Amino acid sequence: MQPAANLAALDRAALEDFFARMGEKRFHAGQALRWIYQRRVTAPDAFTDLSKALRARLNRDAAIEFPAVAARRRAADGTRKWLLRLADGNAVETVFIPEAGRGTLCVSSQVGCGLNCTFCATARHGYNRNLTVDEIIGQVWVAAGELAGDRDIDGDGVDGDHGDRDIDGDGVDGDPGDGDGDHGRGETKTKTAITNIVLMGMGEPLLNFDAVVAALRLMLDDCAFGLSKRRVTLSTAGLVPAIDRLASACPVSLAVSLHAPDDALREQLVPLNKKYPIAELLAACRRYAAARPRTRITFEYVLLAGVNDSSAQARALAKLLGDMPAKINLIPFNPSPDIDYRRPSPAAVERFRDILIGRNLFTVTRKTRGDDIDAACGQLAGKFTDRTRRSRRWVSAPAVPAPSPEMPSSRPKMSTPSPAARDETAPEPAAAAAG
Ligand code: SF4
Repeated sequence: MQPAANLAALDRAALEDFFARMGEKRFHAGQALRWIYQRRVTAPDAFTDLSKALRARLNRDAAIEFPAVAARRRAADGTRKWLLRLADGNAVETVFIPEAGRGTLCVSSQVGCGLNCTFCATARHGYNRNLTVDEIIGQVWVAAGELAGDRDIDGDGVDGDHGDRDIDGDGVDGDPGDGDGDHGRGETKTKTAITNIVLMGMGEPLLNFDAVVAALRLMLDDCAFGLSKRRVTLSTAGLVPAIDRLASACPVSLAVSLHAPDDALREQLVPLNKKYPIAELLAACRRYAAARPRTRITFEYVLLAGVNDSSAQARALAKLLGDMPAKINLIPFNPSPDIDYRRPSPAAVERFRDILIGRNLFTVTRKTRGDDIDAACGQLAGKFTDRTRRSRRWVSAPAVPAPSPEMPSSRPKMSTPSPAARDETAPEPAAAAAG
């Protein structure tokens, strides 16, 4: 007997093909998506706008299955983290960061990560496998349900009290409250607290291209989560050919984990740089930006004390990105057990930021969120079997040595930054500094 098809693993095009193979109309795909993602119904016999006969066939031949929540944690600042149990016994982490007017969900794309960035907790735990479409979009589905109060996540002993919907404090449940009017129909109907999604959790999303693109399409689909492309961000360590593919397959917002202004240092921090050096990576970013006019590429830069946080490195970074429609996210390193890097002092972060702003670069310093539940940037680990045995090799791996002392600071006197180069302390939109 054929195993039941998991409808949660299918985006709209795949669902249309599924119905077509059944000899049914392709438009049933949109109906099924609304039931699954907007009404949160996982029993096909409850899809009451389908015929009884079709529902009976779906009941027999299809299932709707998402990962289950294995554990929940909530940080003092309201950040949530869920550990999701996968069918094979592995587990991945998903983080929700609430703030005034928006709520950002950080989604994982792989079980572990094989790219071995030296500052990253996920890398220390090695790699197991790619996530499937249902496991990726399931993180959004599960978090949306939890945030809508399907379960007693706020610890008041009352299930389904919807106590967490009013994320913007305006007294209106489920009102994303950003006032920009760009959200799709689905965003309103699902009344989700999730207004933004970032693929910055465990894993390198572009190494799981097909499943990630299918999940992205569900995030954007008006019959599913209905988010705008501007509100969905994929973060990559820099897989150049896949950046080009993404531009034509599903051009969501792009973030690049840069972390160093020169190839020598970046090769130590992000080993993928040996394959795709900075010049090639930035050329791919320019092509991506050209396909998405009026949008900026985000460059993530984890600040590591004595490694990449000098004034000279800030100036080099400014020179590198000077002609790019760029936004720079400075992320002071979040300490993690067994990783020898240190977080720079607030003064060092400020100095680095001021140099970038002084050179007219749009720069944001991320505020650390959820670090008391290991949900901050670079701290996601999940639970899984490491098929790469990398976790063993990490035990004796040295951190990148500090560079030679920086040149005397020639910090310019700051004038009022231009609007294009304003600085703000933004909440950390993600968990791992994912690639
Ligand atoms: S930073 Fe991203 S790409 Fe690098 S090892 Fe961590 S999860 Fe993988």
